[in-house]
Amino acid sequence: MLKAIYPGSFDPVTYGHLDVIRRSAKLVGHLIVGVLNNNAKMPLFSAKERVKMLKDVTKDLPNVEIALFDGLLVDFAKEMEAGVIIRGLRAITDFEYELQMSQTNHKLGPELETIFLTTSIEYSYLSSTTVKEIAAFGGDVGQFVPEEVRKELEQKMNARRRM
Ligand code: ADP
Repeated sequence: MLKAIYPGSFDPVTYGHLDVIRRSAKLVGHLIVGVLNNNAKMPLFSAKERVKMLKDVTKDLPNVEIALFDGLLVDFAKEMEAGVIIRGLRAITDFEYELQMSQTNHKLGPELETIFLTTSIEYSYLSSTTVKEIAAFGGDVGQFVPEEVRKELEQKMNARRRM
């Protein structure tokens, strides 16, 4: 059975991520969505909150598992016995960074392959950063993220305004 890891920050998960998750879950036997627990990136949502939102929005996908990780992706892949990394490719700007990452990971773990899924056209502009910016200014992000995530974003931004 092909086991793959889809790693990322997912701060928060968007319809773009969900599209990659759904499409990959059809390609592989088991998909582990690896949530990077890296505070250096100063995430808006804690790792626990990001995991919870991902679990909520993937609960209808039986072969998808959500797991936290820190440290090197190659070590996490070994630990989970996954041979494939999945990444989404949006515009050309993603390409250089992704190429570097996949080549580095292949050097560190030669048995590990990276598969890229190109973004569905309707989500090609979408990023967690943009979604957070819109939410911070009180804009409606309902067309970019699932309802559960929209609510969490609203609560988080309201709490911030009160600070
Ligand atoms: P990272 O901080 O590792 O880039 P992200 O959560 O931003 O983590 O993204 C995780 C993965 O999802 C990356 O491969 C990224 O290219 C992909 N991705 C992000 N947004 C989209 C989108 N709108 N459509 C398809 N893939 C996306």
